[in-house]
Amino acid sequence: MPSFVRGIFAGALHDTLLFPYPPLLERRDPAEARVIRRLIDDLRAMQHDGLIDSARFDEEETIGEDVIRALARTGFLGLTIPKEYGGLGLSNTGYARIFGELSRIDASVTVLIGVHCGLGARAIVLFGNVDQKARYLPMLARGETLAAYALTEPETGSDAQHITTTARLSADGSHWTLDGRKLWIGNGHRAGVIATFAQTDVERGGKRVQRPTAFIIRPDMPGFHVEGIIRKLGIRGSTQAELSYRQLEVPTDHVLGVVGKGFGVAVHVLNGGRLTLAAGCTGGTKQIAVEMAAFAEQRVQFGHPIADFEITQRKLAAAASDIYAADAMLGILSDLAASHDADDWALEAACCKVFASEMLWRSADELVQVAGGRGYVKPYPYERWLRDSRINRIFEGTNEILRLFIALNGIQGPAERLKEIGSALRKPVRNLGLISGFAASRLRSALGATPTLDIALDERLATHKKYFEKHVAELRTATE
Ligand SMILES: Cc1cc2nc3c(=O)[nH]c(=O)nc-3n(C[C@H](O)[C@H](O)[C@H](O)COP(=O)(O)OP(=O)(O)OC[C@H]3O[C@@H](n4cnc5c(N)ncnc54)[C@H](O)[C@@H]3O)c2cc1C
Repeated sequence: MPSFVRGIFAGALHDTLLFPYPPLLERRDPAEARVIRRLIDDLRAMQHDGLIDSARFDEEETIGEDVIRALARTGFLGLTIPKEYGGLGLSNTGYARIFGELSRIDASVTVLIGVHCGLGARAIVLFGNVDQKARYLPMLARGETLAAYALTEPETGSDAQHITTTARLSADGSHWTLDGRKLWIGNGHRAGVIATFAQTDVERGGKRVQRPTAFIIRPDMPGFHVEGIIRKLGIRGSTQAELSYRQLEVPTDHVLGVVGKGFGVAVHVLNGGRLTLAAGCTGGTKQIAVEMAAFAEQRVQFGHPIADFEITQRKLAAAASDIYAADAMLGILSDLAASHDADDWALEAACCKVFASEMLWRSADELVQVAGGRGYVKPYPYERWLRDSRINRIFEGTNEILRLFIALNGIQGPAERLKEIGSALRKPVRNLGLISGFAASRLRSALGATPTLDIALDERLATHKKYFEKHVAELRTATE
């Protein structure tokens, strides 16, 4: 399937991927939409009853077992687990919708559920075999235990392909022995099921090399240790632990996927996670806009609510237009995710994660500004919004790494074409067609021709359409 983002680097506008805009979930799947409404009501009730209490989670730096039990009872720990294993089996769109609502209510609960459903359990849903799914998914769906996803190590964060944890197969082939350390693992201190990664010795092209393999591990396996819990700037109610594997014995039937293909497992799971993270950031920004407007309307200075001042209105308008753009991206991305493999929309998910996490941070900063001194001090919630927002630019792929990922993948197609032109130039007569086609396209763009969106748009959008086409042309020229 063509990728819209990959296409624009080559000046190609695959507008059929954008239009018609996907129908709303309510129309596409009314039954799922009903489940989502029920979940949102339950969530609001938990907040109303004081069970979900962000200030307390932040202060106590934990989320109590009573909250986890309530989340389990209402189905929040089985959101992404298929119905046949006792979960709710939500689509990517449905899960993203819930994630947006969760983020409006509490960032720490969002992280706890995101790590459990979107990373730990999802690794088993996507890559587990029939026995692994039957053994682990029902207990995770019921919330008997939490799931975690342990990839990061002290020496390797962004460079996850080069993790140093090792796994050696025993002589009798009955188990693997893992040695290494994992850092900042969400739910790690109390998870009963953890998807983790270690280097294994495999053969590639006749040579022995080290490649990551994914494993399911449990804390009762000999050699598993929780070294401690870390303290943080934000999302303090969620817990991250440092784990160590010292001669950790893992039965061979706990390999997740294929030996030596663990990096693919890690990346595939994270690609899906980025859609939900973007949905969470968008939901969070919506709530920030609500808080900003409420504060600005009631705070009076110079005899007027500060909402009357144009400079405040600009802040609100900026947040609203960013939210509109993020929501539009999410609609397209969720639709792609519903019908295509995660590799097909990896660039779009990365774009969405970068845009939404930076939007959330900007608007949290503006919320603090609008609230003035009250933005900076407790017991007001504004400083917590700022602290809770910051992590989204760092985890599930830092925004720098994702920008590199987008750019390097985007230029791949044009680079291959240029290589082809380069070889063709060595035999110009034989390759006249190819060379003249390329020269004509360069000439057209030098004369100001732009790629066009071949779709009828309302005439009020004409200026924006031109602006968009001009920038796609500039991106193509810069890429070449
Ligand atoms: C609260 C929290 C929760 C987390 N939860 C989990 C979890 O549940 N499971 C898990 O496995 N991990 C988890 N992580 C780890 C997280 O995913 C990593 O922190 C993240 O991937 C970045 O790795 P790093 O911190 O080692 O930074 P580094 O990789 O050391 O990067 C440091 C800086 O250098 C930049 N950088 C690195 N390489 C390049 C490059 N090639 N070009 C340009 N810039 C570059 C980065 O963007 C960053 O700004 C969590 C982290 C935190 C803080």
